[in-house]
Amino acid sequence: MSEQILVNFTPMETRVALLDNGATQDIYIERSINRGIVGNIYAGKVVRVLPGMQAAFVDIGVERTSFIHVSDIVALDSGGREDKSRAPENITDHLHDGQKIIVQVTKDPLGTKGARLTTELSVSTRYLVLLPQTGHIGVSQLIADPLERTRLQQVLAHALVVEDMHDAGGFILRTAAEGVGPEEIAADLRYLKRLWAAVSRRAKAATRAEMLYADLPLHLRIVRDLARPSLDRIFVDSRECFDKLQEFCRDYVPEVAGLLEYYDGERPLFDLHGVEDEIQWALQRRVELKSGGYLVIDQTEAMTAVDVNTGSFVGKRNQAETILKTNLEAATALARQLRVRNLGGIIVVDFIDMEDAEHRRQVHRTLEKLMQRDPARNQIAGMSELGLVEMTRKRTRESLERILCEGCPLCQGRGVVKTAETVCYEIFREIMRDTRAYDNATLMVLAAQGVVDRLLDEESAHLANLEEFIGKTISLRAESGYSPEHFDIILL
Ligand SMILES: [Zn+2]
Repeated sequence: MSEQILVNFTPMETRVALLDNGATQDIYIERSINRGIVGNIYAGKVVRVLPGMQAAFVDIGVERTSFIHVSDIVALDSGGREDKSRAPENITDHLHDGQKIIVQVTKDPLGTKGARLTTELSVSTRYLVLLPQTGHIGVSQLIADPLERTRLQQVLAHALVVEDMHDAGGFILRTAAEGVGPEEIAADLRYLKRLWAAVSRRAKAATRAEMLYADLPLHLRIVRDLARPSLDRIFVDSRECFDKLQEFCRDYVPEVAGLLEYYDGERPLFDLHGVEDEIQWALQRRVELKSGGYLVIDQTEAMTAVDVNTGSFVGKRNQAETILKTNLEAATALARQLRVRNLGGIIVVDFIDMEDAEHRRQVHRTLEKLMQRDPARNQIAGMSELGLVEMTRKRTRESLERILCEGCPLCQGRGVVKTAETVCYEIFREIMRDTRAYDNATLMVLAAQGVVDRLLDEESAHLANLEEFIGKTISLRAESGYSPEHFDIILL
């Protein structure tokens, strides 16, 4: 299997695509203008404790005041370790106005809401997560082999002694650590030691709200987290970014430095590998299947609904076979789309009804197998009697759609707008209301062009009747800035 990473770097935006045998699997986008602050650690100051909400507002030096809930506060003993005997129940036992606290951002500020904070701190490297307030050593759940889990724990325990870090805190061995030798893990440990010492020094010295630690920008994070020797290539389309990555690799992940390749070809990197098209398709509701069938993917607040449809015509002969083939193809397309679109939460798939129980099992098994290769944690329930499959997928980033799109301003995200006919009748009703309330001789209707056209054409007879009925003149004006549903009635 050949995997490649493409890094498309510009000062305003970095985009990374992970390709598997030429097919886009994952897309990451980070814009400098709204680069999140999740993972950053700050020295903050409690602005106000809210006992009623068991929460507090904290100033961390960013635009809006941040928020911490009592459940995100870790009680510490005098040595800076978690004290489970004092599990926080009452916010006032732990925080008071004006207090200095060290916090980490768990959720970016959104709209008018400030960032969400925790006092449970952690920093990651490629193979390790350091949890300075705990003493626990864990291994990623995605490493299944019990022998490998034991080996990794032993490697880490030994390295902690050698590096004189037995009291550094707790650690988690990340998925990328699987099969990795003691030297690489020790190198990560040394890096964390330097990093945490620097953060602690700055935390002690801080006298006002300030940032103590920021996670790496996307292009470095990707190399830290995803690059491994089994990769085919890492293409980078910016000289500046390439140089930075080379330096980063030399310092932290020398084993993948040789995979870096500067791309200065004529065609844009994402065009060349079809990623640009893939992004455009991933923003469509409909996904075409080779057999002529298609998927419809709808992302709602509560869940993602996926509907599988056959092509236009399914012959009577071999109908069951055609449906099976379409459902299998749909499962493959779905598994890939979930990653490319980065959809999370509850996903409900409505496969085409299959009468044969063996066919149903086959589709379900195929989906399960495909989802096992998805690095995002997921779970699939059995197929319900109605042919629905419920699944969950855990992700840490926003979906592609949420990053690139906003709700449609014309329909407020409903996906449909009222017809011109409906708006015309609303206008007629509004005119009747206004006529009763006011005593003007003339009314003017301002509406979108399509609505005015309809009033002058299909509805012209109704409009004339209405004028006669209310004994007033109704004039019309098309407003180019009006959305199809927007109208105003002015009394002259
Ligand atoms: Zn719309």
